[in-house]
Amino acid sequence: MKKKLSLPVQILIALLAGIVVGLICFFAGGADFVTNYLRPFGTIFVNLLKFIVVPVVLLSLIDGVISMGDMKKVGSVGWKTMAYFLATTALACVIGLVFASIFKNAGLFPTLQLAEGVTWDKATTANFMDTLVGIFPTNMWESFTTSNMLQVIVIALMLGAGILAAGEKAKAIQDVVGSAYAVIEKVMAFIIKLSPIGVFAMITWVVATQGAAILGSLALVILCAYLAYAVHIIVVYSFSVKAFAGMSPVTFFKGAAAATLFAFTSTSSAATLPVSKECAENLGVDKDIVSFVIPLGCTINMDGTAIYQSVATVFLATCVGMNLTLGQMITVVVTATLASIGTAGVSGAGMIMLAMVLTSVGVPVDMIMIIYGVDRIFDMGRTALNVTGDISCAVCVNQWEKAKAARKAKA
Ligand code: ASP
Repeated sequence: MKKKLSLPVQILIALLAGIVVGLICFFAGGADFVTNYLRPFGTIFVNLLKFIVVPVVLLSLIDGVISMGDMKKVGSVGWKTMAYFLATTALACVIGLVFASIFKNAGLFPTLQLAEGVTWDKATTANFMDTLVGIFPTNMWESFTTSNMLQVIVIALMLGAGILAAGEKAKAIQDVVGSAYAVIEKVMAFIIKLSPIGVFAMITWVVATQGAAILGSLALVILCAYLAYAVHIIVVYSFSVKAFAGMSPVTFFKGAAAATLFAFTSTSSAATLPVSKECAENLGVDKDIVSFVIPLGCTINMDGTAIYQSVATVFLATCVGMNLTLGQMITVVVTATLASIGTAGVSGAGMIMLAMVLTSVGVPVDMIMIIYGVDRIFDMGRTALNVTGDISCAVCVNQWEKAKAARKAKA
């Protein structure tokens, strides 16, 4: 009986085959052939990413806002959890940007000579006030058709808030959003399933046109992301569990290890959910808190994804010869935080949302082709981080709730 190869194995084979074919074409002078006949398959993939990003952002954020409404029911646990998630994710973006800037300023990220016929519109550096005004839409449909992601975010947040405010009357719309989001998630899963073809086409084209040197650059951007992942996991989570829960970081990492490793290999926070729950319970977190924090975390708390999106944005901006201004960096922090919230806990979803961050600062989405081939390697680390972050949150919220109960008992 023939056994079907699993997706990770297919992706690995596509990656290696693409590198080999790309190198052969580079040395044998077949770059034009690859650009004309193989790159279009990569373009199809990027087109699909562009097509899906507006509905995903819109629906996932509206859905997110609606679930925050339920949070009122869960009271203080809800707000503490949200505050922890948002603070650590924003911090993750900053850490990602710091590492990426260090690599960029040390000349470790390349500015690419892009193949002929491939043009990117260079982003202009808009001033802060113009950017601020530009965030607010004048026409909803125009924001959608031009994929103006900052405006789409504002629209999603306002519609979400409107739905909550309308209460019972908006019940039908709530259900429509939930069910449309489920459909879009399926479409996204379908696009991700086809990714081995995209990986092969894109890595072959990148290597055939840029030569072996691009492999070194890709290795460096992966190294940069992993260094940022490591700092976040070691510094931020050690600090938070120690400071807020009085737990030794060694105990925490030992307790969370099974989930961290499972996430690393599965690249899906959603698939890791049962393991994460067990780890959190073994670390002494109350069952009620586990069953609130961990499922919510695996849908909206993605520190690793935020780091990846920040690093990838700086890398790809450098590739097209763009320098991000301070204002654009702030935009990256805001959009990557929101993008990671909107990222589904499944393999490869973070790259789809990267399209949103890139658009928000004017980096051409087509540049995703450069790093598409090696996304799996980024994904392993970012998912491990995402899941560990959820468990650290559960540990801290548990302690805050315990302290609150003790204060109440005293009073
Ligand atoms: N694979 C990640 C997760 O499940 C999401 C991502 O692609 O960033 O947490």
